[in-house]
Amino acid sequence: MPVTRERVDPIRTPDDLGLVHRRWLLPDDARRTVGLPQLARLWRGLLDLGVIDSNQEVELLRMLLPAGELSAQDLPAVASAGALLAGSGAASLVTQVVWTSEEGRRDPYAAEGDPGGFRDYTLYAIDGGARLFLPLVPSRICCGGCGAWSPLEALGFGEGALLDLARACPGCGAVQDLGRDKGELRTGAVFLLEELVCSAALSIELPHEPEHEELPDAAVSDLLRACFGSYDELADDGVAAAT
Ligand SMILES: [Zn+2]
Repeated sequence: MPVTRERVDPIRTPDDLGLVHRRWLLPDDARRTVGLPQLARLWRGLLDLGVIDSNQEVELLRMLLPAGELSAQDLPAVASAGALLAGSGAASLVTQVVWTSEEGRRDPYAAEGDPGGFRDYTLYAIDGGARLFLPLVPSRICCGGCGAWSPLEALGFGEGALLDLARACPGCGAVQDLGRDKGELRTGAVFLLEELVCSAALSIELPHEPEHEELPDAAVSDLLRACFGSYDELADDGVAAAT
């Protein structure tokens, strides 16, 4: 019987508030469609490469859209890729925590001198076209039509949020335009919404910032490119660990 590890970082202490480093890997074009079969292949590929552990369970979280009804389920890892396929019209995520010290585990950010530790892999799949995923969640949105800023109030999902594509500007009533409206991140940086949204993303959470700015593992990188096309890698440092 496999033992399910708790999603707890053993390094975490009350002094160290559990802040971690998170990398977001996502298609570099929000309009590129990434289908559920592609995402299932990506997750299966991570299992085959030994990045995630085929002997441990995977947590599946699913939110039916647009109602927001949430369900969670623990699955054997081998069944989790197939479960992604059943996510039509829903936001789904599959997640597993592994340790770099485990035998046979492949660490895509492996570097000499890295202290290792936990790696939290989460694959997000947003299907249906009514919402898109925001890995880095803007606190407010600027309407490109009238210039008014308004709070985002998006539905949280995993470590990101789901942007309602039918959202209208409270100032002028214009329907959201990803290529014209902007979002302001908590850092104060402002981006066009189309640069912030995606329909799929892989997050990798580590205890510390990896040495590499970009994923150094060619096999994992090829796997991502086969699923996402060319992809962006966004760093989010000093964030609260996933719960
Ligand atoms: Zn407006």
